[in-house]
Amino acid sequence: MKNDLMRSLTVAGTVFLSGAGAALAAPCLEVTLTGTQGGPPVFQGQAGSGTLVRYGEEANNCSDVVLQFDAGRGTTQQLSKLKVPVGKLDAIFLTHIHTDHTDGLSELMQLRWHFNSAGPKVDLVCNSDVVAPKGYTMSCARLAASIGDTMIAAGEIAQRLAENPKRLPGGPADLFNVMTFDGAEQIQTVWEQGDVKVTAIASRHIAGHVSFRVDTPAGSVVIGGDAGNDLPKPPRASSTSAQVETLSEGADIVVHSVIHPVMGPDGSSGFPPPIYYRQSTATDLGSMAKRAGVSNLMLTHLIPPIGAAKQGPYPVSDTGLSKQDYIDSVREGGFEGQVIVGTDLATLRLVAP
Ligand SMILES: [Zn+2]
Repeated sequence: MKNDLMRSLTVAGTVFLSGAGAALAAPCLEVTLTGTQGGPPVFQGQAGSGTLVRYGEEANNCSDVVLQFDAGRGTTQQLSKLKVPVGKLDAIFLTHIHTDHTDGLSELMQLRWHFNSAGPKVDLVCNSDVVAPKGYTMSCARLAASIGDTMIAAGEIAQRLAENPKRLPGGPADLFNVMTFDGAEQIQTVWEQGDVKVTAIASRHIAGHVSFRVDTPAGSVVIGGDAGNDLPKPPRASSTSAQVETLSEGADIVVHSVIHPVMGPDGSSGFPPPIYYRQSTATDLGSMAKRAGVSNLMLTHLIPPIGAAKQGPYPVSDTGLSKQDYIDSVREGGFEGQVIVGTDLATLRLVAP
């Protein structure tokens, strides 16, 4: 579905009506960046990486199906600003097992266990265990099984169970319904509910990284995660993932982590080249979005953040980059659609005709 079929767009709380009056029964898809911090550093209170995708009818604030993709630091606070109780999440999807995408999971699940032990469980959808070439294993299943372990070790779970034995005896992990799949280079369906279908494809960043796409009658959104090209460094045609490009074909919205070329080895930041090369640059994302016929590109996980003099210990410049610097870089790639340079809680709403 293209822009002309959307009746309204909401960007960071600002509504732009692009068509005739609203029928509140119209299906709608709402995509909110719950956190836009790129990587492990902290900057001005930005929340860790995550995207909330809601689908439903306008009368119900598009909230019949509520999905969280990645759950970095502070996700629970961000959901509270959106008035989304953690007990309302139908499923959580993880692109990869890096703390900047998973730090918020334990507090989210502890809160759900505290008040929602009666259920329902939340689906945790992620890749099966993957053994990396160097022999270590990336394991979403183990992350899930151990999500309450520090609270169990500290005695808190036992103390709270003593107060309220109706809570699930194993702690927060008991509330997960873990749904792993074998990430592959072919698109596969990994979750479905009613009119909402989520597909996934394996992509490169670290071992086990996957990217997702949500299709609904109101539109579609791709969550690229931190994907980069399968070739770990130049020479290569693009820093973006060919698999994510396939997944993005004709999508209304692509949400993707971004790195600005200023962090590249040609600059003076000293940023480690292998870390730079495993992300997608703003310019290459612009080219990818154009080739895939995408209408809206939402940049998230910005490296470096807007206005940051440093990315972690790596210097950018005294004033840092501006929003326009990111837009210019995307436009260099030839993309002519809407670019949203992500800030926490930036939102796009698509409404079916
Ligand atoms: Zn990351």
